[in-house]
Amino acid sequence: MKEKSLLLIKPDAVRNKHIGHIITILEENDFHFCALKLFRFDRELAENFYAEHRGKDFYENLLNFMMSDFTVAIIVQKENAVQELRDLIGDVNPAIRKPGTIRYLYAEGITENAVHASDSVISAKREIGIIFKTEDTERKD
Ligand code: ADP
Ligand code: MG
Repeated sequence: MKEKSLLLIKPDAVRNKHIGHIITILEENDFHFCALKLFRFDRELAENFYAEHRGKDFYENLLNFMMSDFTVAIIVQKENAVQELRDLIGDVNPAIRKPGTIRYLYAEGITENAVHASDSVISAKREIGIIFKTEDTERKD
């Protein structure tokens, strides 16, 4: 089934000029792009996006990192997009990231890990609604 997922290129990867490389990896893996934007998280948006992590020890660091520079958001579409994109970005734990994954290539640490990908179809819907509030994001083809 064709699914949508949300990919974020986080502030560290934007600062380190990896936007183009990451987009190339997505294209080479046959993800179609439905919508793409460059924006900066403010506190309210970051709190909403990462609500599930509120209260965890890394929460404040995570919010400050996400507000530290611009982020690129891309809605991607493909068969089984959610799982395929999660596999492509690699694990949050640097010790078990597989070579070839985007985080293996570009992450600087645990929090500063270059990219985000939705972890389920339900999360994708929620996150797309938060980041692309008003835009028309439907592909017509
Ligand atoms: P993922 O981004 O792989 O879905 P999580 O949802 O668990 O991972 O965490 C959200 C984000 O919070 C991570 O991408 C990372 O930036 C940060 N994070 C997660 N766990 C930790 C941790 N133990 N220490 C520091 N930062 C973390
Ligand atoms: Mg997550």
